[in-house]
Amino acid sequence: MTSDLTIDVIPSERPRSAEDRAALLKEPGFGQVFTDHMVTARYVEGRGWHDARLTAYQPLTLDPATSVLHYGQAIFEGLKAYHQPDGAVALFRPDQNAARFQRSARRMAMAEVPESLFLDSLTALVRQDRDWVPTKPGESLYLRPLEFAVDAFLGVRPAKEYLFLLFASPAANYFPGGVRPVSVWLSTEYTRAAPGGTGAAKCAGNYAASLVAQAQAAEQGCDQVVWLDAVEHKYVEEMGGMNLYFVFSDGRLVTPALTGTLLPGVTRDSILAIGRDMGLDTVEGRVTTDEWEAAAADGSLTEVFACGTAAVVTPVGAVKHAHGSFNIADAQPGALTMKVRESLLGIQQGTAPDSHGWMHRVA
Ligand SMILES: *Cc1c(COP(=O)(O)O)cnc(C)c1O
Repeated sequence: MTSDLTIDVIPSERPRSAEDRAALLKEPGFGQVFTDHMVTARYVEGRGWHDARLTAYQPLTLDPATSVLHYGQAIFEGLKAYHQPDGAVALFRPDQNAARFQRSARRMAMAEVPESLFLDSLTALVRQDRDWVPTKPGESLYLRPLEFAVDAFLGVRPAKEYLFLLFASPAANYFPGGVRPVSVWLSTEYTRAAPGGTGAAKCAGNYAASLVAQAQAAEQGCDQVVWLDAVEHKYVEEMGGMNLYFVFSDGRLVTPALTGTLLPGVTRDSILAIGRDMGLDTVEGRVTTDEWEAAAADGSLTEVFACGTAAVVTPVGAVKHAHGSFNIADAQPGALTMKVRESLLGIQQGTAPDSHGWMHRVA
């Protein structure tokens, strides 16, 4: 689907001053500071996408009957804009996010945002708010596209009207004090996604359903929950909102296959390519919790890491489950984990060659 919609630019009358911006950019944290502008577009069945606008960042007004509040047709994306050494700003694989956003929309019976509208919105917002792109190593401008149903109607059916939104939030280095391995809780009580369900869609409801399991992981003294398959509770799927990788001493780099219940991460896909570039035997396969524990014990599993846009690559050091706990090697960040992390960050921050053509310069 294409669109030749142009985005009307109506800049904020009260953008924050350079001093206020500098103060906010000093310690941006994650997801708490928002830039001066946002993009919106509307969809109405029969009319298609229209009224694409870049305006001041501002609250929304919603009718109490707005259907997303009741039946949850809501999807989102997450990607980052990176400051480049020559002063440009570049996005990492935004076409992949555009495609996934469309797949998520299809699964939730929502209108698909045309790739051109998705990409043009990103470009327009980053250009308008380029002074909000942080420049220190490890920092970025996190971009949050989302779409939800806005019919004011209580009948249960796919909505006929949708709102597309894009806004931006400067993000600090995820590991300011150096990369720290996480501990994980293998959840057998809760599952994230079942066959035929919405596990491969980046929909809001998946996150709502995950929070109680994440709270349980915290009660167990763990940083993150690891999801297992819903049928047998033995195949490893993913960790919180990140995909997982297993490094074996025989040179295999294994990630759980996309069975339909996993979220197909852009970072996961990029690491498959980086692993191949490094000459590793990359495998999309299945790993059981018993294999995980046995291979950690006999030393054939040397490293485990999680990956996603927010933290890029995070080592997993320790694992706890209902019947015990174990460490991965010495529970420290593994050498290959750190090498993959540096390779990816190098491409994103423009300090390593972009041999796959992943970076899109927009400002
Ligand atoms: C977004 C997400 C990921 C990671 O995807 P990236 O495109 O790499 O950021 C992994 N798992 C879940 C459940 C997610 O929502």
